[in-house]
Amino acid sequence: MANRDLADVMPVANFRFYAELNDFLPPERRFTEFAHGFPDTATVKDRIESFGVPHTEVDLILVNGEPVDFACRVQDGDRISVYPVFEAFDISGLTRLRPAPLRDPRFVLDVHLGRLAAYLRMLGFDASYQNHSTDERLAEVSRGEHRILLTRDVGLLKRGSVTHGHYVRAAKPRQQLLEVVGRFDLARLTRPFSRCLRCNALLEPAGKDEVRHGIPAQVALLHEEFPRCPECGRAYWKGGHFRRMRQWIDESIQAPAVVL
Ligand SMILES: [Zn+2]
Repeated sequence: MANRDLADVMPVANFRFYAELNDFLPPERRFTEFAHGFPDTATVKDRIESFGVPHTEVDLILVNGEPVDFACRVQDGDRISVYPVFEAFDISGLTRLRPAPLRDPRFVLDVHLGRLAAYLRMLGFDASYQNHSTDERLAEVSRGEHRILLTRDVGLLKRGSVTHGHYVRAAKPRQQLLEVVGRFDLARLTRPFSRCLRCNALLEPAGKDEVRHGIPAQVALLHEEFPRCPECGRAYWKGGHFRRMRQWIDESIQAPAVVL
């Protein structure tokens, strides 16, 4: 529906956002078509981000029913439909905006997501996290190391240099894990207890003799295998905590996990 007052002074296009992209919009713009006046030079990417929706959340844009890329110039009278990253729908016949999906998903997390980083490592995912990273550094690591940027900061995802990112909606770490596992379809890719929870390195096999000084005598009697972190030297073993974590993981991903 065109807005006549705006149309008198600048071009007007109609926008509609689908599914979870509405999370970023004010209530009056959610799940409905709305008119928007814009400067002559606007790209569709600029317009979408002006509404608060980070480009990393968008996977498909239709202008008057035709797929376009982010650089498309918005024209007066356009009807623009904006869709989120699809996991459940087959849109293979259409032009997706994301570069090829990252099939071996790796992550970098912002400074507020330390617990989520540890949980992802527990499932075996490569999760880079430092409690003092700047926004600039996070964007750099995401791009340079092909890592999906997980953040609670929408502004960070609006940086042009970030191509793969996800705005984490949930506030509690376990809910955040469920959200990320669902969003990136991680359940079938887990390798629990393959990575150091403290420093993210892949564990290496180590015998009892190699780790004897770092573990309680009682534990040494009961176990033969002690996967060890090559960076911090911490040894792991499958004690009672292992069974509890295992149950926690199975409940979290609702799917049988691959055994180490
Ligand atoms: Zn370590």
